Amino acid sequence: MNIHKDTFERWSAADSADLYGVKDWGAGYFGVNDRGELCVSPFPGKSAASASLPDIIRGIKERGMNMPVLLRVSSILDSQIRLLHSSFRKAIAQTHYRGEYKGVFPIKVNQQQQVVEEITKFGKDFHHGLEAGSKAELIAALGTLDDREACIVCNGYKDEEFIDLALSACKLGFRCILVVEMPSELDTIIERARAMRIDPLIGVRMKLSTRAGGQWMESGGDRSVFGLNTADIMALVDRLRQENMLDCLRLLHYHIGSQIPNIRDIRAGVLEASRVYVGLVEEGAKMGYLDLGGGLAVDYDGSHTNYMHSRNYTLDEYCVDVIETVAETLTAKGVEHPVIITESGRATIAYYSVLLFNILDVTKFEPSRIPDRIPEDASEMTKDLVGILGNINSKNLQECFHDAIYYRDEIRILFKNGRIPLRERALAESAFWHIMVTVSKEVKKLKYVPDEFENLEAALADVYYANISVFQSLPDSWAIKQLFPIMPVHRLNERPTRNAILSDITCDCDGKIDHFTDLHDVRRTILLHELRPDEEYYLGAFLVGAYQETLGDLHNLLGDTNVVSVRISPDDGRFEIVKELEGDSVADVLSYVEYTPHDLIDRFRIVAERAVREKMITPSERRDIMALYEGGLRGYTYFER
Ligand SMILES: *Cc1c(COP(=O)(O)O)cnc(C)c1O
Repeated sequence: MNIHKDTFERWSAADSADLYGVKDWGAGYFGVNDRGELCVSPFPGKSAASASLPDIIRGIKERGMNMPVLLRVSSILDSQIRLLHSSFRKAIAQTHYRGEYKGVFPIKVNQQQQVVEEITKFGKDFHHGLEAGSKAELIAALGTLDDREACIVCNGYKDEEFIDLALSACKLGFRCILVVEMPSELDTIIERARAMRIDPLIGVRMKLSTRAGGQWMESGGDRSVFGLNTADIMALVDRLRQENMLDCLRLLHYHIGSQIPNIRDIRAGVLEASRVYVGLVEEGAKMGYLDLGGGLAVDYDGSHTNYMHSRNYTLDEYCVDVIETVAETLTAKGVEHPVIITESGRATIAYYSVLLFNILDVTKFEPSRIPDRIPEDASEMTKDLVGILGNINSKNLQECFHDAIYYRDEIRILFKNGRIPLRERALAESAFWHIMVTVSKEVKKLKYVPDEFENLEAALADVYYANISVFQSLPDSWAIKQLFPIMPVHRLNERPTRNAILSDITCDCDGKIDHFTDLHDVRRTILLHELRPDEEYYLGAFLVGAYQETLGDLHNLLGDTNVVSVRISPDDGRFEIVKELEGDSVADVLSYVEYTPHDLIDRFRIVAERAVREKMITPSERRDIMALYEGGLRGYTYFER
């Protein structure tokens, strides 16, 4: 990394690419051009077909839409689905596997209609299906998918209505598989299938004893709330046999958790499931499908490790490991190779969306100057504190750090007791921060950094105000400290000189981003460029296609952002806007929390009329104020210039 490169050396776009790790997390889809702009290149091996993000932002603004914008790059989704299938096909050929691969997309990962439609469109050649975890998701799936070769896998708890709908789908020719998650569901399935005179496609979700590391480790293991244990599975088999329905048991499913960073855990899960699959075949079930669930991870920080925001394997390795493990286990027992299904959500869709936003303002961290002469009548404490400043070196760092904190706290007490004036307290605080800056510079030279200095850098950083709500657009960044790559999308051939954290525009102190991706660790600050007057500064948050849109909330009534989908030409990289969705207006978000915008206008009009009556405003001022209020209701919930 080049951050320590001499300040006088030239800074190039390649240095920025290094600094922000674009090659590490970008999976080939993102790069930096020599104009210092971040580019999207959705077609592997065709670097000429790349579009610059600043050009796209310009195009969006010229068409009258404002930042923040969630940009969906359709062509990336297309490429990711192709890549998933071609990797599995390669692995199948390479290991002489005798079954095929079919993917399903779990709708919960991004339920937006346009997204699910594009997935079924791009997935059509590969019979890519959908996974539904609720009635609503099944209804969405049935209205979107029209490929009868594709599977619809129904997980989640099911009532009679859910089951009836899935059985009806089978009548219409869909491959709609009902996965039993709770023993009691089986009775309803048998009963409804009889009543509707249909042979259901039944699956069973097993509880793995294998547990995977990472953020979602509770999804696996004996204590997982989902699925049947082996005794339950045997009871299910016995019941089906009794009903003469063992031919209806077609699929074994498990889901070990999302974002599995370690390939060993993936292998262990597949192995355990393959053994259970063999057992079911030996019991006489017809089977034919083995569904390995989700878990295929995204390398958010680009470190290629088993850290929870990364993964220590490639897609190719994942596919080969999975196919090989199933093949070896089943071949040894003479069991026919099934269709392999995976429910990869995150890995299919993360790269597809980029959150683009502007910076509204900066609070620089710059302690005010300390006068050369300290007032004669200042307290000894203050004089001692200022005295530290000239004495800091690499040997006494910790001592100076502790002393400064001690003096500062004592001075605050003196101030509270009325013993020193406000101006002296201000002087002392400035001195304190100057000491922290000096300490932090020395800390950077240390080989081993003591824990107590860990938060220092973030405390001394500038705050860049981002025109977003973390709660709406990057909820996992707040809720589970998920890391997303974030970086400027232009000015990349200029050296970034400010150490910063990001704050959003909610008035919540959690509405900030102070964890950033790094190859070796988590960075607490990010290097950004100095803002220029009258010029917007744009950043992007990347790999946000999975889960973020769906989990977002209305904190401070900041609503959905504008969404723009672009397709990029594989020939020349020209982009074309294929879909625009205007974000929520203020009236929209207010109606979500049960206000009626009309009533609000009526009431505000009464308030304004009273002011006219009381001669506080003129009638024409009333007109302007009403126009402002109504315009506000129609407007975007984010900051507009
Ligand atoms: C959430 C979920 C998935 C998707 O997991 P990813 O890690 O995003 O691929 C798949 N299957 C089930 C049952 C899930 O609950």
